[in-house]
Amino acid sequence: MTDSLDIRIEKHLSQIGSIGAMGGTQGWTRLAFSAEEEAVHSYAARCLQELGFTVSFDAFRNLFARLPGALPGAALPVMLGTHLDTVKNGGNYDGVVGFIVAVEAVSELLRSGRPRPNIVIAIFRAEESTRFKKACLGSRAAFLGLDQDTLELSYEDDSQISVTLSEAVAAAGGTLPELDRPSLDPAAYRAYFETHIEQARTLEQRIGLNGSSGDATLSPILGIVTSIRAPHRCEWETSGPKSIKLFSRCVIAVENAAILANRFQLDAVATVGRVEPNFVVGADKINAIPGRIEIPLSYMTEELFARGRRVAGERRCTVEVSEEGSGRRLCVKGVTDHSGGTPMGIEHRQDALVAACEILLQLPDGMLPRCERIVFATDVRSNSVRARDFVGDLLEKSFEAVERLTLSDSPGAGESRIEKIRRTERSEPVTSLAPELQAKLAEAAEKEGFASTRLPSGAGHDAMMAAIAGIRTAMLFIASRNGLSHTPEEWSRTTDIAAAVKVQARALETLAGL
Ligand SMILES: [Zn+2]
Repeated sequence: MTDSLDIRIEKHLSQIGSIGAMGGTQGWTRLAFSAEEEAVHSYAARCLQELGFTVSFDAFRNLFARLPGALPGAALPVMLGTHLDTVKNGGNYDGVVGFIVAVEAVSELLRSGRPRPNIVIAIFRAEESTRFKKACLGSRAAFLGLDQDTLELSYEDDSQISVTLSEAVAAAGGTLPELDRPSLDPAAYRAYFETHIEQARTLEQRIGLNGSSGDATLSPILGIVTSIRAPHRCEWETSGPKSIKLFSRCVIAVENAAILANRFQLDAVATVGRVEPNFVVGADKINAIPGRIEIPLSYMTEELFARGRRVAGERRCTVEVSEEGSGRRLCVKGVTDHSGGTPMGIEHRQDALVAACEILLQLPDGMLPRCERIVFATDVRSNSVRARDFVGDLLEKSFEAVERLTLSDSPGAGESRIEKIRRTERSEPVTSLAPELQAKLAEAAEKEGFASTRLPSGAGHDAMMAAIAGIRTAMLFIASRNGLSHTPEEWSRTTDIAAAVKVQARALETLAGL
């Protein structure tokens, strides 16, 4: 009971880190509805019960822990939410710091006897989309209810048997007939808070950490999230003998559409993260900037290689040619980053795919790999629907123009057949967070002696569902080394987590009264 806050934080990290640890450099795997997720929820339940919380579960097996405030019967409760599942071979901070901050903020108030509101800590299931290819399933179930299509999403278990979401929920002890309606009434909550690692480098750079393993003497700077840039995603298909040129021009057009939006003072990021078939190796995540691209080539000359190196260098990427049996591969290396959280521009992004596409456009046709059909996915995000639509329109127009250009630079009309680019989409609404709660967090940070800065979230979070359901919602970000997430290397300083605990506690205290 007398442990300092720093020690308590590190104990949580090590206890939670013992669940789903894969050993060596393999990180952590606590997938949605796995035994590991179950185990980490049990750990959370024990911690919360020790603090005096009453724990219950909804039909989806989300965990809710309730603690009455200092003034019985006072105003509606404040919810602190997070998730504890991970991607495959993920890290031990994404989601986990949200839990630590929620629990320890309440613990700080209890230890000091300061006033507190009625509190509900929510730990949502299945936030990560690894298993069911859709994110925030637990919070979606709790705040909005799930439709039949979502319940039928499935994954393949180790013995290649398909398991649907309904089956996974039922196996965990959930109640299927209740899943079509929300388990929570948004009107029954005053506010929703969530703390998360930033998944981009804004805070790290502001603090001055710059990827170092953490100088503990540098003062924390907390991020107060203004909105969640939800993705608008499309899939496009190029076909015909000129596919690779058309594709390369489209990738460059995607980057330029977002840069133009930024010049017009519109918030937007746009990325091509996934490409099929994998004639390029390394572009396989729809929400990640590709960090390494490999392209088969029929030959290479000194002069063309030097040109490629120059083009890549301008994008802070490197190039090498590897010989593999009879084939040669051009390998472009950049840095993998979150496509939603990393600003546009060469100073922020080292996008290996854009660099590779610029190189491809400089090479003679005979050198390029044969590829008659390429499917690629675009991920466009913004703080405002207006800006996102602007980039979307620009993409369509650019792709049409690029298609005409590629047709016209083909020598023989017969072999220049390029089919129209196809598209399918998936979109989440842009979510604005409550200005009055942002102000409360800023004020709490100031009172605790920490600097803070406003920033949008590039990644989606459970908080989106709370906000969409109509609860006043706020998010706090802490710096994450190199902006990394969803990897064993993700890491944040204890001092930044402790700062968030103190700020969250202070903000809760101000909500204690009626
Ligand atoms: Zn997360």
